[in-house]
Amino acid sequence: MLASPVAPSVSSFNFHVLPSSDPPYKLLQTHPSLSLLSKCRNLQQLRQIHSQIIKSGLHNTQFALSKLVEFCAVSPSGDLSYAVSLFESIEEPNQLIWNTIIRGHCLSDTPGLAIHIYVRMLLRGAMPNSYTFPFLLKSCAKAGLAHEGKQIHSHVVKLGLESDAFVHTSLINMYAQSGELDSARLVFEKSLHRDAVSYTALLTGYASTGQMDEAKQLFENIPVRDVVSWNAMIAGYSECGQFEEAMETFRGMQKVNVMPNESTMVTVLSACAQSGSIELGKWIHCWIEDHKMGSNLRLVNALIDMYSKCGDVETAQGLFNGMSLKDVISWNVMIGGYTHMNRYKEALVLFREMLKSNVEPNDVTFLNVLPSCACLCALDLGKWIHTYINKNFNITLPKKKNKNFNSSTSTALYTSLIDMYAKCGNVVAAEQVFNGMKSKSLSSWNAMISGLAIHGEVEKALGFFSTMVNEGLKPDDVTFVGVLSACNHAGSLELGRSYFSSMIQDYKISPKLQHYGCVVDLLGRNGLFDEVEALIESMNVKPDGAIWGSLLEACRAQGQVELGEIFAHHLFELEPDNPGAYVLLSNIYAKAGRWDDVARTRTKLNDKGMKKVPGSTSIEVDSVVHEFLVGDKTHPQSKDIYMMLDEIDRLLEMAGFVPDTTEVLYDMDEEWKECALSHHSEKIAIAFGLISTKPRTTIRIAKNLRVCRNCHSATKLISKIFNREIIARDRNHFHHFRDGNCSCKDCW
Ligand code: ZN
Ligand code: ZN
Repeated sequence: MLASPVAPSVSSFNFHVLPSSDPPYKLLQTHPSLSLLSKCRNLQQLRQIHSQIIKSGLHNTQFALSKLVEFCAVSPSGDLSYAVSLFESIEEPNQLIWNTIIRGHCLSDTPGLAIHIYVRMLLRGAMPNSYTFPFLLKSCAKAGLAHEGKQIHSHVVKLGLESDAFVHTSLINMYAQSGELDSARLVFEKSLHRDAVSYTALLTGYASTGQMDEAKQLFENIPVRDVVSWNAMIAGYSECGQFEEAMETFRGMQKVNVMPNESTMVTVLSACAQSGSIELGKWIHCWIEDHKMGSNLRLVNALIDMYSKCGDVETAQGLFNGMSLKDVISWNVMIGGYTHMNRYKEALVLFREMLKSNVEPNDVTFLNVLPSCACLCALDLGKWIHTYINKNFNITLPKKKNKNFNSSTSTALYTSLIDMYAKCGNVVAAEQVFNGMKSKSLSSWNAMISGLAIHGEVEKALGFFSTMVNEGLKPDDVTFVGVLSACNHAGSLELGRSYFSSMIQDYKISPKLQHYGCVVDLLGRNGLFDEVEALIESMNVKPDGAIWGSLLEACRAQGQVELGEIFAHHLFELEPDNPGAYVLLSNIYAKAGRWDDVARTRTKLNDKGMKKVPGSTSIEVDSVVHEFLVGDKTHPQSKDIYMMLDEIDRLLEMAGFVPDTTEVLYDMDEEWKECALSHHSEKIAIAFGLISTKPRTTIRIAKNLRVCRNCHSATKLISKIFNREIIARDRNHFHHFRDGNCSCKDCW
């Protein structure tokens, strides 16, 4: 195909075609050295073929050179830099060679260079044609060069190539991908022969920017709906969170017998994962098996993601184990699956396996692993990841090759580190990470504020809030959860009230359950139950179990038995299978000394046979996380741990420790027994920490439930007796035990 016959005189560039002096095409095409190229698999073989071509004198022909350049620039086993050096050695490259080198850059991760080549092409007087522009326009879109894209559009018009089907679609694609949908639409409408491909190009532009109404309208008018247009609609709905529509579109595609491809399945599986539609997910799994695509890496990864996000981690794990070849995405989706299902320890175990099998982790891996470190207080592993991130993702360091790197990735990673450090009890390190960040997102500020809040550093948290506002950032609902929980930790009713009303009035954020929870808790703890009832009346959402629970806790503290009964009934209605309501109510009776009612409530609890979430505590020693349950005797060092527990009890008794019997302990099936207290999971973890770390090392533990009063008092004394700092995180709070005291001042 030669250049467009349209006179180039209209252009500011001096276009002219170069003469070609090659021997007859037939002779060259069948030459053995050139046919070798099709079998070439790596750079070494390529060099051999290249030297053969030189020996045979073929390197003087444009044909051989263009074949060589094409292989190097475009083939997956080629090498673009080799193509470029070959290209630079050609004195007068022909049109095909220019086009090939542009195409090579377009496919690479340096698409912007394609435009430089194009400019050189024009300066050298070579003529662009209808094969030049599609790749050139694609390069502009990929490199975000919208302005250059427009200039190239004017060249297309000058050369009269606008009506070429390929070029036309490429123009629409270029504008659509640059987000200039109005221009894309203009190009589309100006054309006389719109085909399915140009419809799809514009439709994809609308769908990928969430303008589904426009996309749908085009979709309905499209002459032929092929798999690409169906995929664009499904992906568009899925990205807008309209999963039902996404799946409905997929079913529509089935009805008209359009064969889905790999991309369809990946998109639909992702929609299933995000909407929890395991039934459709399973159906797709069968479809994949039926079509013998069960070894397709991308599809298996998507299946693992779907199963684990829908809660079937076992099937996901089965698929993962059965993979003969795993890439970094396979590991990421499986680790992410465990984290998603709160199976943090398994996430960390799998991460270690990944490192052992020499798969290099990427940013997604760390964004999946760090929350697990945070939940299990795995500070050593978290620190190791921090060092790794500094080496590989730090924006101030030179870019490492092949790292999918940009500043928003780096911001997300450092934000995740802030969260990890704060939740592992090292709020100082969290602050250092925050201060060292080059660019901070709203999430970074939110992580810092809630990090300070859970540590009870109220003034600092509120200080960060005002700095953030002064720097011009607009707080969101997450920010206010942090701010209000800081007020809550401080027990400051006035601050809480004023931030709550500021959130609604100044920032126009309508309160969610978590915000109400903080305020209800604050009011309850101050005994303002009338105000609580008024607030609950005014709520635009129904109170959840956590709100009733916190009110029950407030009733216990304030000795409000009757109100407690009312609140407990709300909780029974809302969560009939939650044993927590019965436990909290029996605690209220116990505090008031109404033992008959305690027994009655306990019987009800036992009759219902409700299983509560078992209490478990994790502790990290030498980068390995150990988890203990109530009365756990499964640890290999169990014997030593229990010897230590006896020693702890002996020393506690000597120090005059009196067990706190005001709380009925729902970890036990029978009546409360004093000896069983020493077997609470947090105490076992502390005993293990004492025997397996050097004297004076800080012990960090994380419990999944609230720390009970008895363990709290005991831990205070343990910190004094053993001269250890103990940092314990329970479900909502941090406790820094030091020298017989706790940072929470016994209020949690
Ligand atoms: Zn306890
Ligand atoms: Zn405490």
